[in-house]
Amino acid sequence: MLTRTQIQIKGIVQGVGFRPFVFALARRSALKGQVLNNSVGVLVDVEGEECQIKQFISELKTNPPPLSNIESIEFSNYEHTVNYSDFRIVESNSNGAKIMPISADIATCQDCLREMFDPKNRRYRYPFINCTNCGPRFTIIENIPYDRKQTTMRDFEMCEDCRIEYENPLDRRFHAEPTACADCGPKVFLISNQIEPQRRKDAEENEDAIGKTRQLLQNGKILAVKGIGGFHLVCDALDTEAVKNLRARKYREDKPFALMANSIEVIKKYCFVSEAESELLLSKERPIVLLERKPNAPIPEAIAPKAKNLGFMLPYTPLHYLLLENQAKPLVMTSGNISDEPICYEDSEVNERLKTIADFYLLHNRRIHIRTDDSVVRVLKLEEIYPQINTDGHRLEKDKSQITNHKSQIVVRRSRGYAPAPIKTAVKFEKQILACGAELKNTFCLTRDNYAFVSHHIGDLENLETLRSFTTGIEHYKRLFNLKPEIVAYDLHPEYLSTKYALEIDATKIGVQHHHAHIASCLADNEIEGEVIGVAFDGLGLGTDGKLWGGEFFVADFLQAERIAHLEYMPMPGGAKAIREPWRMAAVYLQKTFGDDFLNLEIPFVQTLNKSAWKTIRQMTTTETNSPRTSSMGRLFDGVASLLGLRDVVNYEGQAAIELEAIVEKNCADGYVFDIAENESIIKISDVIHQIIKDMLAGVSPQIISAKFHFGVAQLIGFIARRIRNERKLNRVALSGGVFQNMLLLEQTCQILKSDGFDVFTHRRVPTNDGGISLGQAAITNAHIITGRI
Ligand SMILES: [Zn+2]
Ligand SMILES: [Zn+2]
Repeated sequence: MLTRTQIQIKGIVQGVGFRPFVFALARRSALKGQVLNNSVGVLVDVEGEECQIKQFISELKTNPPPLSNIESIEFSNYEHTVNYSDFRIVESNSNGAKIMPISADIATCQDCLREMFDPKNRRYRYPFINCTNCGPRFTIIENIPYDRKQTTMRDFEMCEDCRIEYENPLDRRFHAEPTACADCGPKVFLISNQIEPQRRKDAEENEDAIGKTRQLLQNGKILAVKGIGGFHLVCDALDTEAVKNLRARKYREDKPFALMANSIEVIKKYCFVSEAESELLLSKERPIVLLERKPNAPIPEAIAPKAKNLGFMLPYTPLHYLLLENQAKPLVMTSGNISDEPICYEDSEVNERLKTIADFYLLHNRRIHIRTDDSVVRVLKLEEIYPQINTDGHRLEKDKSQITNHKSQIVVRRSRGYAPAPIKTAVKFEKQILACGAELKNTFCLTRDNYAFVSHHIGDLENLETLRSFTTGIEHYKRLFNLKPEIVAYDLHPEYLSTKYALEIDATKIGVQHHHAHIASCLADNEIEGEVIGVAFDGLGLGTDGKLWGGEFFVADFLQAERIAHLEYMPMPGGAKAIREPWRMAAVYLQKTFGDDFLNLEIPFVQTLNKSAWKTIRQMTTTETNSPRTSSMGRLFDGVASLLGLRDVVNYEGQAAIELEAIVEKNCADGYVFDIAENESIIKISDVIHQIIKDMLAGVSPQIISAKFHFGVAQLIGFIARRIRNERKLNRVALSGGVFQNMLLLEQTCQILKSDGFDVFTHRRVPTNDGGISLGQAAITNAHIITGRI
């Protein structure tokens, strides 16, 4: 008997080849009817035998197109049939198209790769091959609805062959908007840095630009290569001279360079790669994965000075595949910028900003509409490296059942491949909110229903170019997702450019404390709500008492954060200068612990201390001149690193702490004890400094001291969490803040808390650093709306 069923599919189902997939499936199942995009997703109307329809629905669920993400399938049966004569894809019912999820940019798929390397294929070695399942999306979309006219691909008119594919519902390129071939699509150009890219003539397009690029790289040259979301600076990673040149030309830079290799096998020469890490490297998002470097890995030190990890990624565009074809060597693929500026993404900027760095430019003429950096992720491994340790420092027998769920992905920088996919939340957003985020590693966030549209990584809002990226980014998201935020959330710090921007908007506004936002972000990230023990450790953020917080224990939910304990306040002489010069903090800790007599301590730090500089600093702390008070845990990590002689001045945020983590002696399960009195809320630093100096004087190695410091901080978290549990009957702990980018600390803390029976929540989908702040601001704002506070 003929029956009719309507199927409504919700989720990321538009612009990902869903309709042609349904079309092909219906044809195969001999079903009749139609499929269309509507305001909430894809609507299918089918007629046929009941069992066939059932089979059809089960196929829909089990084998959807790779880029789709089905959130729900609802179906209703109708008694009246239409008696369709065939199965069709019909024009979109655009009635009030509200949210159109837009796909992120996706790595080249296997089908396209096969075609690109097939001499008989018409796209043989074409560096812009793509299909419905892969290629650029977010970075080329100018406006919605998503079709070619509204992307930067409108610059290219499709040739007849491409058009036939584009219009054929059974073709892999049906409505793949960036469809192109060598005859009609984008082209690559190789030019020297003596030519202004925008002045180059198409006639200058050279034969075999990619082959010549490979040759130049082989000869130690540095190239600016235009990718999908911006420019990379590229050189041969094994050419020490080239790497040093690149580092020198990018000046003031110690940040590790990302690497690209053509296979996991190549990466394994330099790093340990677990199964989970391998999966991430191969995922369609193709992020940079931070991997543990093998001892004596044959790679120049200048790639990642003093770091114990290397950031590797696999090729994600056809151009990358061609550059790395048959290459046993990795390439440096670092962001195309000078120090802290955002990456270059327009041809016109290249000559202004990268001329002094790159010898040549490998360009293409597909415009990038919005810049997007590579994403950075890592895998949290709780069991593999460190023994399980309980709070008394005793090793526990491994319980196999607990191990399996311990491996998980951590997003350090959420950008290309992930954004602009929304973060689904457990709590519905009652109104549309714009959360402006923090200052460093900024992201913004817009909300609607159960979605938080957390932006791609914007960067440090410390210069005009990044600010422009922030403001145009907000406008772009509003347009793409058809959002009109009614309420604006901002950080309490008045000097953040994101705060200044928010305060100028004519709308209802709410200021959100930085560390409360961290904890709320962790809750939203984990789709939980209600009170938790919140641990927020970071560099710093403005507290409600006007001081700079960063070593905080709360009892918090989305509405409020009650500060239960924190590190004792210390002066930060010179403000921001104390961040760049951790020796200032180290000296302050010593002075607070030992008084001015610390100058008699026979440790290298004191012996090499610039006494006249210290005199000035001491004066500043006494008179409280330009010495804001801070309870920051990030500063303490930096200070300890400086004390151990690792680094007195940093070139990027967190560098000293990263080096402190890198030297840790792993087989040490001993920790310093932080002093905190019963019923006290202030955690003393001086006791730990005492213990460190005692060890230093006894000749204990920095490796062991670092290990004892890390373990001490993890035990401190366990100790305070237990105290709060006893008083408040809370058993859930949320960990957030940039300090938890320290894998050793995070792993040890999780182990201690878990073996003590706590439910531990860490970040999974948004960064634990300030990149996650905007999500937390949005969640807090929503709680205020729901309870009628605003
Ligand atoms: Zn493809
Ligand atoms: Zn074509």
